[in-house]
Amino acid sequence: MLFLTIGLFASSTLGWLWYAEKRNTADRRSSLDLLWMEQLITNELGTHQVMLQNWALDYEVESQKSHDEFLRRIDDLIKNDRAILAIEIVDRSQQRVIGLPEYQQRPAKLPPLNDPLVVDAIERSRALEDGAYSHVIEQFAPLWVLALPTTNEQIRGGSILVTYDLDKLLTEAVPWWFVQRYDLSLVDKNDKQLWPNEGGLIMHGKKMSRLDFGPVNSGLSLKTSVREAQDFDHLLYALATAVILFGLLIMWLLRLLRQWLKERHAAKKALRERDELIQHTAKLSSLAEFASGMAHELNQPLAAIANYAAAAESLLEREQLTSPKIREALEKMGEESRRAGKIMRSMRNFIQKNASLHEPYSLPKLINESIELIAGRARQQHIAIQFNSDMEDLVIECDSIMLKQVLFNLMRNALEAMETVDRSQIESAILNIDLVQSDNYVTVSVVDQGHGISELPKLFQAFYTTKSEGMGLGLAICRTVIENHGGKIWAENLAIGGAAFRFRLPLSPLAPIPKASVSTSRISENERENESQVPLPDGMHDRLQV
Ligand code: ADP
Repeated sequence: MLFLTIGLFASSTLGWLWYAEKRNTADRRSSLDLLWMEQLITNELGTHQVMLQNWALDYEVESQKSHDEFLRRIDDLIKNDRAILAIEIVDRSQQRVIGLPEYQQRPAKLPPLNDPLVVDAIERSRALEDGAYSHVIEQFAPLWVLALPTTNEQIRGGSILVTYDLDKLLTEAVPWWFVQRYDLSLVDKNDKQLWPNEGGLIMHGKKMSRLDFGPVNSGLSLKTSVREAQDFDHLLYALATAVILFGLLIMWLLRLLRQWLKERHAAKKALRERDELIQHTAKLSSLAEFASGMAHELNQPLAAIANYAAAAESLLEREQLTSPKIREALEKMGEESRRAGKIMRSMRNFIQKNASLHEPYSLPKLINESIELIAGRARQQHIAIQFNSDMEDLVIECDSIMLKQVLFNLMRNALEAMETVDRSQIESAILNIDLVQSDNYVTVSVVDQGHGISELPKLFQAFYTTKSEGMGLGLAICRTVIENHGGKIWAENLAIGGAAFRFRLPLSPLAPIPKASVSTSRISENERENESQVPLPDGMHDRLQV
């Protein structure tokens, strides 16, 4: 893109320089052509001047022969030069002595001999003893009268008068190629166009040359502007527009190409990721199959342990052995193995995608029971688990066993995240569980003071783990369980440090309306120490997560 911009800039500059040079050459040429043309006309007029003065000198007033000869000569000249309307010799008192055209009454197209402008020209020529042109006389056409003093003794003080039709003079004098190349006009001192009088006004371009024309102080000027240059301008503008449009087109295409490459890259990446995901799914399903088999296998020894515990209890009773401690231990053994059996069944249902049993369950109760499962570990880490609820009771329809596993996983991850954090600055380490109801949903949050989440987008992907011993399946399973309950799970890093994992579950239509009072259950380190329930050993839960 940078190279393209530089290229465009360089070619525009070169183009402009080339154009400026062309314009200068054209301007120089137009000035020279105009000068040349002016010289051409002036020469022609000068020739007339010399010829007429000579003829006038030869003229003998009394000689008929000389009379005829003079008329023949001026007749030839008038016929040759259509711009000349009349050639006359007048005496000192402006009375015509000889001249053409002949007339009884002076034709209207000729200015009267006593016209102030004609008289003025005659007087100036006498004073200068040289030819003098009149100012432009507007008589049907713009006219010009040249007054020449004659040195002929017979017409002492007389003058030769030549009347030019300016329009014809220029039309005849200007060559065709000049008219083709230039816009030419003759203007007076007020910039009024005198020629051409047919074909309307000449609109000169911005670049225009001006040259004084005719006698000194005549106020006449020739104006030219280059036609070619105007055409050339149009061509150049068209070219410049084309270059700019072309440049813009290229830029747009480059942008499109870049976007397309980006999209292609993104699509490739997505495809790769999907292949990363498919492999994981395959691994996950074989793992699920394995776990399902394991659950099935373990279910039987667990049932046997429960049965043996029950049998041992009956034996104790039958043998009348009264040892309350052994009885209590056997009772607990039976209870826990039955619970383990339930977990196994529930997990198998979940893995095999059987419709797991959803039954009404108190959510605060479920949370408290989950806290109990992890309380031992929290105690070891000197972390207090705090449960805040804005409701006393709230019943949801759920697979309570799987939901407890979700909470257990989230709390276990939270404790692990808090394990590595330097807690010297923290007053007391707390793991917060919040329960908030809004509309038809209830949201549970597990908020820790750990190191925070490093890669949020990958968090719920199967096999994503940052732990050396981790499997990266806990959160993936949590998401499946929550989604199976028609809910949603997400996580966020907190500004004050630590992370919050939240899941939202729909409220059952059968669920009782929550009471307005606020109940806060705080399970602190000390309280946990007095808990009577014995949680499952951590190892067992770790296995259950799979
Ligand atoms: P595992 O615990 O085996 O790594 P999980 O799916 O439970 O698998 O967790 C995946 C990853 O998510 C963890 O390795 C960890 O990097 C991150 N994670 C989970 N919980 C938290 C938390 N509370 N704080 C920071 N990171 C967490």
